[in-house]
Amino acid sequence: MQSDVERVLITQAQIAHRVRELAGQIMLDHTPPAISGDGQITIIPILTGAMIFTADLIRHLPMRMKIGLLTVSSYPGQSVRSRGSSLISQQVGDLSGRHVLLVDDILDSGGTIRLVRDLLWEMGPASVKVCVLLRKPTPGAAATPADYVGFDIPDEFVVGYGLDYGDLYRNLPDIVTLRRDIIDSLEPKP
Ligand code: 5GP
Ligand code: MG
Repeated sequence: MQSDVERVLITQAQIAHRVRELAGQIMLDHTPPAISGDGQITIIPILTGAMIFTADLIRHLPMRMKIGLLTVSSYPGQSVRSRGSSLISQQVGDLSGRHVLLVDDILDSGGTIRLVRDLLWEMGPASVKVCVLLRKPTPGAAATPADYVGFDIPDEFVVGYGLDYGDLYRNLPDIVTLRRDIIDSLEPKP
């Protein structure tokens, strides 16, 4: 698997450092009086990509929280270009009056975040904030506000730390690019 890697973009040490910084910001914004009401928080990772990021992030958030789950498919089959997002399933619990923190691995066209954010707002939460580990320099991403962003990266296809290609590579500890011949060999021909 390591031999499929073209280059390491962000190391696990850099990720770990940034995750702690993001958690610090999130703590500040989610501790009364910064938030209204009794501070009931639900963290919702968008599965499967945000699973590892969220698992690390929440262990630096010493606050009362519930976890909701939501699965979105954005790359049907194997592809390096988003073909639109659709909701596969959700198990987010009762969100009325709660402060929601939506977590995703990467903000690309913004379609996923906009889809999920609009859907969650219909469930009557007190607030919805968005946290993404990575953001690409696309017009869609620029048009999609995110409250917490780990890293701005170039417009390249990346895997590792939860991000996949054809459901593989999620367990790589670093964020990396794949060799071109590997992508070509896995991507279906049009
Ligand atoms: P968007 O809906 O913003 O276009 O895309 C967001 C979703 O597309 C992410 O949650 C992620 O699943 C997928 N995605 C976008 N860019 C990449 C990438 O470079 N690598 C991988 N593995 N997934 C990506
Ligand atoms: Mg995703």
